[in-house]
Amino acid sequence: MPTPSIRIAIIGGGLAGASLGNALIHIPQLDVHIFESAPEFSERGAAIGLSRNAQHALQQFIPSAMELLSAAGAVPMRSSRLMIGSGPQAGTFVCDVGEEELQSSSPAEPALVVHRASFLRELLAPIPQEALHANKRVTSIQSTSIGESITFHDGQVETFDAVIGADGVFSVVRKHVVSDQEWTGTPSGFWDCRNLIPYDRARAALGDEYFEVDRQYGWAGDGSYFLHDVLEDRTVVQCVMSGTEKESPPNRIHKLTRPFLKEKLGSWLDGPIAGKMIDLLIDQPNPEGYSSWEHKNTSTYTKGAICIVGDAAHAMTPWQGAGAGQAIEDAMIMGTLLSQVFSADDIPKAFGAFDAVRKPRCQRIIDSSRETGQIMCGQHPDVSLDAREMKEALKAKWGFILGLDMAQHQEDALEMMRQLRNN
Ligand SMILES: Cc1cc2nc3c(=O)[nH]c(=O)nc-3n(C[C@H](O)[C@H](O)[C@H](O)COP(=O)(O)OP(=O)(O)OC[C@H]3O[C@@H](n4cnc5c(N)ncnc54)[C@H](O)[C@@H]3O)c2cc1C
Repeated sequence: MPTPSIRIAIIGGGLAGASLGNALIHIPQLDVHIFESAPEFSERGAAIGLSRNAQHALQQFIPSAMELLSAAGAVPMRSSRLMIGSGPQAGTFVCDVGEEELQSSSPAEPALVVHRASFLRELLAPIPQEALHANKRVTSIQSTSIGESITFHDGQVETFDAVIGADGVFSVVRKHVVSDQEWTGTPSGFWDCRNLIPYDRARAALGDEYFEVDRQYGWAGDGSYFLHDVLEDRTVVQCVMSGTEKESPPNRIHKLTRPFLKEKLGSWLDGPIAGKMIDLLIDQPNPEGYSSWEHKNTSTYTKGAICIVGDAAHAMTPWQGAGAGQAIEDAMIMGTLLSQVFSADDIPKAFGAFDAVRKPRCQRIIDSSRETGQIMCGQHPDVSLDAREMKEALKAKWGFILGLDMAQHQEDALEMMRQLRNN
């Protein structure tokens, strides 16, 4: 049994960092530490959807993943129904998103909806306390002859054999991997806001017909999109509005007022959903929406013994609910590669192989997700707000995300590392 002699620092303890921690913690030659800037490890926001590929990837490095998800209170999302919300076809059913992929999988494996904080809690539970370091914000990294020296906001400096940045879309670690031009993300052209509403109130406002079956509803329309779904054992309904924006406001914040929403929703106001959703979204203290940012293109995920994963590497728009799933796939591949690394000198080869197999897949999803948003908001040059056209355009959108062969993906990564070692 090798001693844990290779020291790895994971920066960021969100879903990407915690998933990666699970993938690396049992590799005997690694000494893994996770550093989180917040005073405690925590997740903001409501629910997250984990599609089939995310569940499969998680099972590769946590054999009891389904028990873990069950302990986190995950529930199946049987369907996500898309309707048209504005224009001449307002109220028309488009399709049940991803339904064909679901039916073609055997046995059918629905996506799971899980509360973010509960999922993070369960992901952190198996990681030893001595490996978790909260209140440790990384300010810079310097490559030295003895390794990667990390400076924290409190002045402490620690040296590791490798650093993996899982520190989100505004990653500090990313700064040490890519050029200044590529470092910061860019506005994606979309914004969103949300509110959590007690179930009875949301049901009374939106109408019984949308609550007869547990399913998510999406409403596509001109320049905007609504979503509502039932969470937390049918006690809470999550209401979301997304839309297009020409410019991202300062600090990414849109102040939500009734006139602002009415102006955004002009042609929706005669339809079946906009007025009700405005009432539900505005009914919260200090209502705000946020521009979403993304990494449109990233030339590399690695430099030497530094690598980036999750949103730090490939922040994407939420239109295909795929970001966390990609972070989990990252963790799977990183675990596969680093389990074969027995000397710190070999780490850049593992990171090179990670970059080679993960970047094309994540880039494809980034582009697909943005295009899906354009379709949902009636902004796609070739797809109008017509139920048949939209159904056709969305048909091919989920198959390549859900259908990844995890064993093959891991084998591809190992083969790439073999090639890099032989070069
Ligand atoms: C509206 C919306 C809906 C979404 N829905 C889905 C969905 O249904 N399914 C899905 O798969 N994905 C979804 N996503 C995407 C998903 O939420 C993200 O891809 C995922 O949470 C990213 O996790 P992360 O750990 O990479 O980044 P983050 O969650 O941003 O975590 C980064 C962590 O790093 C810490 N940190 C930052 N800087 C430092 C530093 N300098 N030093 C130390 N620590 C630091 C932060 O405090 C944070 O804890 C959605 C995203 C949005 C915006």
